[in-house]
Amino acid sequence: MKTDLDCVLRLRDRVPQGHKLALVDIPADAPVLRYGIPIGYARQDIAAGSWVHERLLRMPEARGLEGLPIANAKRASLPPLEGYSFEGYRNADGSVGTRNILAITQTVQCVAGVTDFAVQRIKSELLPRFPNVNDVVALEHAYGCGVAIDAPDAAVPIRTLRNISLNPNFGGEVMVVSLGCEKLQPERLLPPGSFAIVDERNKAGSGASAEATLDVVCLQDDAHVGFMSMVESIMRQAELHLKRLNARQRETVPASELVVGVQCGGSDAFSGFTANPAVGFCTDLLVRAGASVMFSEVTEVRDGIDQLTSRATTPEVAEAMIREMAWYDAYLQRGGADRSANTTPGNKSGGLSNIVEKAMGSIVKSGSAPISSVLAPGEKLKAKGLCFAATPASDFICGTLQLAAGMNLHVFTTGRGTPYGLAAVPVIKVATRSDLARRWHDLMDVNAGTIADGSASIEDVGWELFRLMLDVASGRKKTWAEQWKLHNALVLFNPAPVT
Ligand code: CA
Repeated sequence: MKTDLDCVLRLRDRVPQGHKLALVDIPADAPVLRYGIPIGYARQDIAAGSWVHERLLRMPEARGLEGLPIANAKRASLPPLEGYSFEGYRNADGSVGTRNILAITQTVQCVAGVTDFAVQRIKSELLPRFPNVNDVVALEHAYGCGVAIDAPDAAVPIRTLRNISLNPNFGGEVMVVSLGCEKLQPERLLPPGSFAIVDERNKAGSGASAEATLDVVCLQDDAHVGFMSMVESIMRQAELHLKRLNARQRETVPASELVVGVQCGGSDAFSGFTANPAVGFCTDLLVRAGASVMFSEVTEVRDGIDQLTSRATTPEVAEAMIREMAWYDAYLQRGGADRSANTTPGNKSGGLSNIVEKAMGSIVKSGSAPISSVLAPGEKLKAKGLCFAATPASDFICGTLQLAAGMNLHVFTTGRGTPYGLAAVPVIKVATRSDLARRWHDLMDVNAGTIADGSASIEDVGWELFRLMLDVASGRKKTWAEQWKLHNALVLFNPAPVT
């Protein structure tokens, strides 16, 4: 990635770290190229050596979704990667957890305070008796009532919440706290048959074809007299699940059982040539090892749609990508916005002029493997290989949707710096710059700034990340976000109206 400049440039402006300078004279209206594509058109003549910032660029229109190249890319040669494994918790449905956590699902925000009270007591009074259980997590969210629950797009938040409660790290131990009068009734959230994990366990345990019954604590139930009755009811049910979770043991499983969600947040101009390419290299390693990797963030890949459709394994996969992009274009348009609403003040201070430049740096997290599946927001991943999981780029919403897809390990790159973390899965954070890695030495897990410093290659950092993933997945290492218990909220994506 070294560039030898055969000319001597005299800087005409003070150029902040991470920002661009013109290598040649760029006449007005000429394309300004980065990553080999026009990230904008010059609004005026730009002399060689000038600082090129957003105010000098006119952003290109988004490419239309017609006439895209479909599944025609020459396949990268990716030989299988064998012999890598980690220590995970094998579930009855075949999925594998990297942590052993009791999750308490909630149908509605109304029960959040009571559930949180109960969870604090579970942690202090019950959890010490179940040392194999890592944590107890209340799946708090803002949905469940006061929403147009029969609107077509309500399917998104509902299936998201359902699939999160089935995340591999929760071991199939689904328990629900409900208020009673809410629109999202427990049977609608988790209809019979949707939690097959429990069905399977019951069958295995009893030898009979026992129907799983949903374990629900309903606060409005007549049986409850007073607050403590509700709290104790939640604790009593939790104890049954904790007993079963405590019996789980880690076992050696192949690296192909990793389900990795990658995303970036607080990006800067280094994201696209240090951290994200290293993650992309690691993505290829994971795909070669037979694992599942999801990349997401629709507005951050929208400008690279032709690269994605061409990398699809089949025309159906390419069509599914186009369908998700079209849905998102319409969603943004309905709100009077477009993809340019994505960039933040921090992105721009960090040298990213617009969403086109940001997208070109973001998309490289997907590496070079063929894209073999596509998920709509909130759907559960069923395939191995590289998946485009369509989600908003919002860090918490993307993370929440990747959790629903079944992610058991999360990789997050950042240039500006974010202390992001999730309660349900370990989050490995990768810094794009050594300066950030030094200042946030107890928040960043990997420093990809070494690539810019010249002390490591993209391949070196990619391998470092891959090995760290196996250690973190096995519980041998904790991420900094786990160390400090930094947990961002679950934020459901609700494109449907509220009432
Ligand atoms: Ca993000």
